[in-house]
Amino acid sequence: MVKLQVPEYILSLEPYKPGKPLEELEREYGITDSIKLASNENPLGPSPLAVKAIRDSLGKINRYPDGSGHDLVEKIAGALGVEGRCIVPGAGSDEIIGMLTRAFLGPGTEAIIPKPTFLMYEICVVGNGATPVFIPLNSLTMDLDAMREAVTDRTRMVFICNPNNPTGTVVHRPAFEHFLDGLPDHVVVVLDEAYFEFVRDPNGFSGIEYLDSTRPVVVLRTFSKAYGLAGLRIGYGVMPAAVADVLHRVRQPFNAGSLAQIGAVAALADDSFLKKTVTLVHQGLDFLYEELDRLGVRYFPTQANFFLIDVDRDADQVFADMLRQGVIVRSMASYGYPRYIRINVGLPEENARFLDALKRVLEIQ
Ligand code: PMP
Repeated sequence: MVKLQVPEYILSLEPYKPGKPLEELEREYGITDSIKLASNENPLGPSPLAVKAIRDSLGKINRYPDGSGHDLVEKIAGALGVEGRCIVPGAGSDEIIGMLTRAFLGPGTEAIIPKPTFLMYEICVVGNGATPVFIPLNSLTMDLDAMREAVTDRTRMVFICNPNNPTGTVVHRPAFEHFLDGLPDHVVVVLDEAYFEFVRDPNGFSGIEYLDSTRPVVVLRTFSKAYGLAGLRIGYGVMPAAVADVLHRVRQPFNAGSLAQIGAVAALADDSFLKKTVTLVHQGLDFLYEELDRLGVRYFPTQANFFLIDVDRDADQVFADMLRQGVIVRSMASYGYPRYIRINVGLPEENARFLDALKRVLEIQ
């Protein structure tokens, strides 16, 4: 056996645990017809326009993709009203998080991360030898005042997940502006807007409005959720051109695949699919809230396509019991909520199936 020489900070990492795949559940339990509400995916499937565009382009995959992502960048720039040189596409927004942390962090630097939030921030920060500084949520919401106070001269990056995964809460404009006020201007503020399209709160805002060349605000968006393209791996960051210039230095030359770019361009034009998705999610949430109210089960209203439910007993056990009912949910035990589960909204029949299974597992009517 070779003796590996691995930095301590890499050995300290635990591999990211994704939601359990349907196929794995069906293999393990010998069941069929199970449902997955664990990874905040789009239950409607992919954007049909994206599927058609990808089909029509299959014959060209002998060619490398356009490394600059020209068509996609131009479409996004037009839709957001920003310059194309401010946009960096990636293999999912995950990859942009990877590029940002690689480019700006290293041993001796710090990044501020709310807790709990999306786990990839911590994995990428630690994986680049930097120190994560965790700031607990306050009533399930990011405590921007505490995050601001945690800034030191070693801070290089702050993560704001808006809406926050897994709590579904958003930060409001005054709190964000107060946070920005006087922030050292080299600190990169990463606003992860993976669930932006689902926000109903009239006080919600987008970091795009704060994009200017005077401070490094970076907004992350993805095609994995509202556009239904999670398997394709395509997302992007919007940032000042100077920040994009830094990311291009660490970017793989062909990081966004050609089919991913083509699918994303088509999905951006698929307004009716986006509308249908957002309506389905909002109606599904309202239905689930009403039923959970009726059952007396506590939950936390969300601005995303997922939400937390307080099952008032061991969440890992509820996760396992739900699996036996053919329903994959996410236990929040590893996020520090040992009695909460997280589900995303499914199709109406999946939501009903989830409720039936939950009633059986919790033995309530
Ligand atoms: N940010 C958040 C908050 C997420 O929940 C996810 C997906 N789980 C991502 C980013 C990554 O999305 P993708 O890499 O598929 O674009």
